[in-house]
Amino acid sequence: MKVIDHINQAKNTLISFEVLPPLKGKGIDALYKHLDPLMAFNPSFINVTYHRSEHVFKKKTDGSFEKIVVRKRPGTESICAAIMNKYNVDTVPHLICGGFSVNDTEDALINLNYLGIDNVLVLRGDAAKNESVFEPEPGGHNYAVDLLRQVVSLNDGIYLEEELRDTQKTKFCIGVAGYPEKHFEAPNKEIGLQHLKQKVDAGADYIITQMFFDNAKYHAFVKDCRDIGITVPIIPGLKPIYTKKQLTHLPKTFNIDLPTDLSNEVLRCKTDLDVEKVGREWLLMQSRELKKAGVPVLHYYTLGRPLLIADVIKDI
Ligand code: FAD
Repeated sequence: MKVIDHINQAKNTLISFEVLPPLKGKGIDALYKHLDPLMAFNPSFINVTYHRSEHVFKKKTDGSFEKIVVRKRPGTESICAAIMNKYNVDTVPHLICGGFSVNDTEDALINLNYLGIDNVLVLRGDAAKNESVFEPEPGGHNYAVDLLRQVVSLNDGIYLEEELRDTQKTKFCIGVAGYPEKHFEAPNKEIGLQHLKQKVDAGADYIITQMFFDNAKYHAFVKDCRDIGITVPIIPGLKPIYTKKQLTHLPKTFNIDLPTDLSNEVLRCKTDLDVEKVGREWLLMQSRELKKAGVPVLHYYTLGRPLLIADVIKDI
């Protein structure tokens, strides 16, 4: 079932989760163990991230270096199918521009369609580890909006080989990313919002936000979106703090701010267990307030602490 249908049919705020595919070499059982305690909350859908290949340099016996391509977390599409099979829950594979030609993208969408997956979260992806700025694959897309247009075309039955006749229309429900604290490359908030509106005007059904720790930023973002005519549901993305290291890691990786009250409380903690308690209370406070405000879905980034998240949801 489509994410947008879940939202339209819901009487209350829904729950959803994001998970990562296992690291290459690890089995799928650890992912099931991660998800098992979360399934008690009947998530409406589960997102599975996409991780592009990286180039690494391996030293050879003669002292020279060989450039090799490594993909640390392959398998997004098949993990989606496996989760759907095991838990009978809808899944949302993330689909990125980086590393994909338009033909690769079409093949991926055809595979998802055969698997009965109705949803995609369409993203640009970040620059590859060895690049300073995002470089599209030759013959690939520059921006999420271009990838989105390809999905919309397939939903209209238009394939890259235009001469194909009597084609099946796919029916993907399309989500896109939004940034309450601005995407780090957008020159300013207004231009960032215009780019988001472009994605919605091109056919996005809903927006999922980058994580934030200050609900006021989410509410201001929703208002800004509504003011420029974005009417689709805006799903808040939430993550707990559970280590002191996150105080520097999260702002650096995701270009977000942590509220002073939260960082002060974390800094006062003596152990990581104390940090978890602070993170739990903060996430609970955020979740309760957002639910009260009537958000469509509470979407949790579960990497790291599924049990902590389960412990929060049971108390919302
Ligand atoms: P875009 O919407 O293309 O925007 C990228 C930048 O380009 C923005 O600064 C925007 O303002 C600008 N821009 C957009 N359109 C134009 C235009 N027409 N002209 C000029 N500038 C433009 N990354 C992964 O690799 N895998 C994942 O699974 C993944 N999951 C994510 C899930 C969520 C909910 C979020 C919020 C992010 C996720 N990311 C993931 C990270 C994401 O790929 C990066 O944040 C990336 O830098 C931007 O992606 P986007 O889809 O927002 O890009």
